[in-house]
Amino acid sequence: MTVGILMSCTGQKIEKEKDSTGECDFNYVVEQFADLQILRYQVPGFESLSLKQKQLLYHLSEAALMGRDILFDQNNRYNLAIRRFLEVVYQNYTGDRNDEPFKALEVYLKRVWFSNGIHHHYGQDKFVPGFSPEFLMECMHKVNVSQLPLRPGQTIDRFVTEIFSVIFDPSVMPKRTVQSGDRDLILASSNNYYAGGITQKEVEDFYQKMADPNDNTPVSYGLNSRLVKEKDGTVVEKVWKIGGLYTEAIEKVVAELQKAMFYTENDRQKAVIEKLIGYYQSGDLKTFDEYAILWVEDLDSEVDFVNGFTETYGDALGIKASWESTVNFINKEATKRTKIISENAQWFENHSPIDDRFKKKEVKGVSAKVITVSMLGGDCYPATPIGINLPNADWIRRDHGSKSVTIENITEAYDKASQGNGFNEEFVWGAAERETIEKYGFITDNLHTDLHECLGHGSGITLPGVDPNALRAYSSTLEETRADLFGLYYLADSKLAELGLTPDAEAYKAEYYKYMMNGLMTQLVRIEPGKDVEESHMRNRQLIAQWVYRKGKADNVVELKKRDGKTFVVINDYAKLRGLFGTLLAEVQRIKSEGDFAAGQKLVEEYAVKVDQTLHAEVLERYAALNLSPYKGFVNPVMKEVKNSKGEVTDIVLDYTEDYAGQMLRYSRDYSFLPTYND
Ligand code: ZN
Repeated sequence: MTVGILMSCTGQKIEKEKDSTGECDFNYVVEQFADLQILRYQVPGFESLSLKQKQLLYHLSEAALMGRDILFDQNNRYNLAIRRFLEVVYQNYTGDRNDEPFKALEVYLKRVWFSNGIHHHYGQDKFVPGFSPEFLMECMHKVNVSQLPLRPGQTIDRFVTEIFSVIFDPSVMPKRTVQSGDRDLILASSNNYYAGGITQKEVEDFYQKMADPNDNTPVSYGLNSRLVKEKDGTVVEKVWKIGGLYTEAIEKVVAELQKAMFYTENDRQKAVIEKLIGYYQSGDLKTFDEYAILWVEDLDSEVDFVNGFTETYGDALGIKASWESTVNFINKEATKRTKIISENAQWFENHSPIDDRFKKKEVKGVSAKVITVSMLGGDCYPATPIGINLPNADWIRRDHGSKSVTIENITEAYDKASQGNGFNEEFVWGAAERETIEKYGFITDNLHTDLHECLGHGSGITLPGVDPNALRAYSSTLEETRADLFGLYYLADSKLAELGLTPDAEAYKAEYYKYMMNGLMTQLVRIEPGKDVEESHMRNRQLIAQWVYRKGKADNVVELKKRDGKTFVVINDYAKLRGLFGTLLAEVQRIKSEGDFAAGQKLVEEYAVKVDQTLHAEVLERYAALNLSPYKGFVNPVMKEVKNSKGEVTDIVLDYTEDYAGQMLRYSRDYSFLPTYND
């Protein structure tokens, strides 16, 4: 079985520090509810693009929105039914909209929109409604039956039996994706990547059979299909393509891609889009690889995009990819920074603290840029990555390189939205640390993302003969750990100051402090009391922070100190801390290079999963007092064509005034093409 090895990053760091440059006249914060804050991002530089580029962005953006329903259905087979049902209730409610049960229903629906389904986008647990079945029943009886998302021939009673238990019964489909533990991960997961009661063993056998150990350029088996066990016990793939599963949405995506082809900047870019269309039409994963190669080699175009079944974080086995899209253009000024990094990629590889046997002799095609996104869709919306590194196929990365991006208009929005929110005052040990963070936090954070994406994921080799999927359910966490450590290790290197990337030799301390504070303490604000850490980026951060904390105890490198009953992270020896990051990097690289599953499992289970209950409770209490949200996401700008009297497009303009519910309802009205049930 060869699958995408989870190379890119959909994690976002939650706390962004105050930027001393201060004043902003743009409203970055849209609203806040449950554990979520909705932000708005700006698209600086859009106006000065050519009309042709804007039209290209416009059609790619339309394509980014056309696939929205796919992700809902991938996440759970009832998601579209529940979303549509609640939207009808929400829009037709005639009672007082300030009544508690209605407000609770509104929050529930907003969370469903945010998570593209009924399970938490990060924690994976099913939402607990704050309203009763009786209230929902009452609302339902007030809407016109024809508006309800019934199956053909389904009675209302049957609909209620089916849907209400999914919403209200905590034992029904409790978790979207179960990533670890001593059980059948596929049966325990409620996502829609597998169906018909298929077991983990059956899935593994199915894809094991496909994998050819002598194939040097294997396709990403299973990436674009649902695996189903039919009634007679046979196992089949239902491919997501035109004429296959999700055809109604994919046809719309393709129609926009076809329009986009009229406005491409060059022939290579045109060929990229053409190949992607071919892949959507055939579902052939060989064509997908050809597309990925064309895409990764297109380095001249200013406009770029991701559109398709891409990341496999949502599948416990890392086989099936969720649908996502981002549309973007290059930020030329900031790209000078990542250019310096990629031009020196070989130097970084050669000086890495890993065993020489695991180093890349020749680092190929590390292309890195800073981009400005203009539209987010699918699994990149509303929660969005701050950096992406694609494609995921190991052999394409080996033979053709990878494209790595840092999304700076998103990191900037995070930064601006969190200015002066009191977080650092509460959790950072002293004024000196706070000042360092204020001064260097934004720049070193971006730099860490650059290093993680641009060098970290691309560094090192897997020894010949090692199964690329050897780390199985731990591969994602360990891969992110490796990339993070690479970035952390080099942030403190004098080479960075020498290259002019960091302002001075002290700047890295801002990121070191934030990283340790986040990994040891503050990221726990995202975890409910009593729960383990599940999500792979969070696991990776805790793994690193806990490992260096415990290993450095004898030398008192990092301390958890109490003051007025509150716990703080104190770093006593930054140089030794860097040394520990290097030691752990060497070990994690060894684990990946040799495919040492047992050691990888031990690292993750020992350091990344369990939570200190007392500290957790304290962090939650302190955080609650700040009235902040641990998760953030974005509304998109509205992109509009401006036409003259002859109907010709004369400009594309962006509007930043749409609110969250307005955007979600508009998307559900204008960009919803799938049947309610896609069995
Ligand atoms: Zn990553």
